Amino acid sequence: MSESDDSRHPAYAAEMPSDSSPSAESDDSRHPAYAAEMPSDSLRVGPDADLSAIDTSGTPGLPDRKSVRKDPKMWARAELAELGERLAIQQEMLFANAKTNPEDPRRVLLVLQAMDCGGKDGTVKRVAGAMNPEGLRIVAFGPPTSEELEHDFLWRIRNALPKPGFVGVFNRSHYEDVLVVRVRKLVSAKVWRPRYQMINEFEEELVASGITLVKVMLHISFEEQRRRLLARLDDPTKHWKYNPEDVDTRAFWPAYQEAYHDVLARCSPDHAPWYVVPADRKWYRDWAVAHLLLEAFMKLDLHYPAAAFDVARERARLERTTT
Ligand code: AMP
Ligand code: MG
Repeated sequence: MSESDDSRHPAYAAEMPSDSSPSAESDDSRHPAYAAEMPSDSLRVGPDADLSAIDTSGTPGLPDRKSVRKDPKMWARAELAELGERLAIQQEMLFANAKTNPEDPRRVLLVLQAMDCGGKDGTVKRVAGAMNPEGLRIVAFGPPTSEELEHDFLWRIRNALPKPGFVGVFNRSHYEDVLVVRVRKLVSAKVWRPRYQMINEFEEELVASGITLVKVMLHISFEEQRRRLLARLDDPTKHWKYNPEDVDTRAFWPAYQEAYHDVLARCSPDHAPWYVVPADRKWYRDWAVAHLLLEAFMKLDLHYPAAAFDVARERARLERTTT
């Protein structure tokens, strides 16, 4: 496990409850009312999103119960294990439905965007890692290759979409074409400006084709990025993760925040909203993203497909077989 322990984050320490007396309160996380505590409403942003007003070390949607407040990190880690099991079951049902019904187009696509060190890789490992690799398609997008540059910016994205029954994860995405491309002036404004509309139309098409989009921006602070870059420099086992260019990119922080603001403002239709997950605390980030994914699955109302054969008859046939 290469992720650093963030329990020493100053903001975290400040939130620890002073009263640690034993509580008689039972853990009610499996109570039916739990469904009402889904964090998506507090994480969803609309066209009026103000990134600078979102506390990157906040924990919106975390249940406000004594058992959680006592040690939120421990609670969230334990809860993540359970969420992971539920995600794996949902994913299996999705896969099973596509396998037994070739007409079922449903799939789920998690789009992860963040500044460098924002935790995309950790989220993939801890959240997507709970699912069966056989039904997963994880794609990381770097600078386009010369072949990709010969096509429009959505070409490589289309090629990476999950097939029906699959869960896709995009580690960066088509949004880089209005983020890095805009901030680092890789193309002119005349080229990137129409892309918001093109992205909206593209995503509308994806949703119409059976894709449930879960778009997540992992939101870290400038200070947290500094801490994480330093941690990479301080640890020889993390040097492979360090990219000297990240320091150059860091100098463009305000321009990136502005570009992110425009993404949230212009590409948040009801069928493909953005969620901004405060990501300074890794345990909260993982819990929140797992929850968002699970919520997306729940809306699909998946069930295991009924057998396309007579189960009793098959059982009888099986019992009759001899060598
Ligand atoms: P990483 O995610 O750390 O492996 O870095 C991938 C790099 O690829 C980042 O610096 C991104 O900004 C860059 N990148 C991703 N998509 C694009 C794109 N469409 N155009 C230019 N650079 C990109
Ligand atoms: Mg990087």
